[in-house]
Amino acid sequence: MPSLTRDEAAARAAMLEVYCYDLDLRLHTDGDTFDVTTTTVTGQAFDAFHELFGIRYPFGDYHQAFVPEFNAGVMENPGCVTLRDSMISRSLATDAERGQRACTMIHEMGHMWFGDLVTMRWWDDLWLNESFAEYTGHRVTDDATAFDDVWVDFGFVRKRWGLAADQRSSTHPVAGNGAADAAAALNDFDGISYAKGAGVLQQLASYLGDDVFLAGVRRHLHDHEYGNADFADLVGAWESSGSPDLSGWTHGWLRTAGVDTLRWSDGAVRTPPTSSPVRRPHTLTVLRVDDDGTQDEAVEVDNDVTPISSRPGSGTALLLDGRNQTWAKVRYDAATLEALPRLLPGITDPVTRSAVWLALRDGAEDGSVDPQVVVDVLCAALPVEDRDVAVVSLSAWIGEHLLGRLMEPVTDRVAGDRLAEGLRLRLHSSAPGSSLQLAAARGPATVTTDVEGLNGWLDADAPRGLVVDQEWRTAALPDAQSKARTWERISTDRTATNYQAHAWSQGFWHAEQRELCAPYVPRYFIDVPATSEFRSDDLAATTATRAFPRFAVEPQTLSCARNALAGDALPTGVRRAMSDQADDLEAALRVRRGRA
Ligand SMILES: [Zn+2]
Repeated sequence: MPSLTRDEAAARAAMLEVYCYDLDLRLHTDGDTFDVTTTTVTGQAFDAFHELFGIRYPFGDYHQAFVPEFNAGVMENPGCVTLRDSMISRSLATDAERGQRACTMIHEMGHMWFGDLVTMRWWDDLWLNESFAEYTGHRVTDDATAFDDVWVDFGFVRKRWGLAADQRSSTHPVAGNGAADAAAALNDFDGISYAKGAGVLQQLASYLGDDVFLAGVRRHLHDHEYGNADFADLVGAWESSGSPDLSGWTHGWLRTAGVDTLRWSDGAVRTPPTSSPVRRPHTLTVLRVDDDGTQDEAVEVDNDVTPISSRPGSGTALLLDGRNQTWAKVRYDAATLEALPRLLPGITDPVTRSAVWLALRDGAEDGSVDPQVVVDVLCAALPVEDRDVAVVSLSAWIGEHLLGRLMEPVTDRVAGDRLAEGLRLRLHSSAPGSSLQLAAARGPATVTTDVEGLNGWLDADAPRGLVVDQEWRTAALPDAQSKARTWERISTDRTATNYQAHAWSQGFWHAEQRELCAPYVPRYFIDVPATSEFRSDDLAATTATRAFPRFAVEPQTLSCARNALAGDALPTGVRRAMSDQADDLEAALRVRRGRA
């Protein structure tokens, strides 16, 4: 691939523009760091995409405009990407958040090739846009920029999003969903089309080898530039670039929904979901970890039972897919679960830790791993977790899923105190002013009941080096009047901006405020669907997700949801949002019943 000449490089720098609606925003945010990273990252990604695809950026100028109130988040218009202005943080951001922003910008740039240069023929091939942009966005960010933790982020954040989506009743194949119209296709902009699609492409690159994978991608882009293409075109491009017949592979991974479970029992055992009992070969690495270190074993899990030489044993952790390469629910044997509190803090590869946390959190959510076991591992590992994205992701999961949902309100306080102590240890051993310290400070703010201690942070009694800026000064006031006022805004305010409606909905429910919020549980099912009469479909659906009574883990809440879903009155987006929330609630109820 010829590299850019000096003149071309200068011309490229001139054609890059970044716009921001409110110039002041740049001054009181992360300021010049933002300017430097956006310009640097954009230039790095241009070169990397050129090299990856073998085709230069095709649309002349390249503008990136950060715009207010943008409900879609980001949009890959050819030559002018629009991004939500909230991606520029008003307060200090963690390194992980900067990395996520870089990855999103690069995802959008990837669409200049996958999406804009070659466009899917119809919405049933949405994955040709989103799965590829998600996969190449991570790949290019990792290869070409200073943000080298994006695959860690993928394991902790994006993969969890997709894995949850793949277990709900609304799951669908990555490809070929036969959307009747554009409105129906909007529902597929989800964890399947993005995260699972990217995970599957990662598997395909391992399965074919990177050379064949990339040769097919380049041939596809070259053959269909400035035109439309579909699934068959891309598969044909791979097959004429040296791939074996992909019909079986694509049937299992792209044409059918659902996720296999992998566990050890005299070998690596693969159990497909009953809804789609098809063949899905998994290219993965088994790790055997003990006090002497880690041993890798590369395995192709293609049958129901695949022989492997690694064995579980006392004091040993046997981690199937320990490098987080495939798309599966991974379950650990009893000895591994027992050894993890001791061994996980010593595992130095953050991608392996993300694989472990994916398995443990998914297991707690489907009832196959006792939440108390997960608490034990968290208490051992959190104080030494050195990745900011891991600390933020785990503490958010503790606050949103573990306490008050998976665990009973009575027993969760004891666990909550232990977890708050684990986060406190992480906070106080972090370097003052570091991204890790900022990430660790957000944990106790979510989990602790020590109101006095937190108020002290606002009065200059914060941990040394922690800047307690405006972002920290929000509160969900725990009194009936505030709740009534906020619910009124959520359900009736016709002038609310997107961001206001998002914030009110997100902040309304708290695990600690069950009694205070109880009157609003039945009201949700009447008031929130009604907002679609005066709010856009997108905003009404987002409100339906965020304002769902997620801590009211009671059979009555589930009946209300199923009754609302039984009629045909709900608009498409609200229906999908409510259905997904109801599935999660049903799973939490099942977990609690399993322990009763
Ligand atoms: Zn996209």
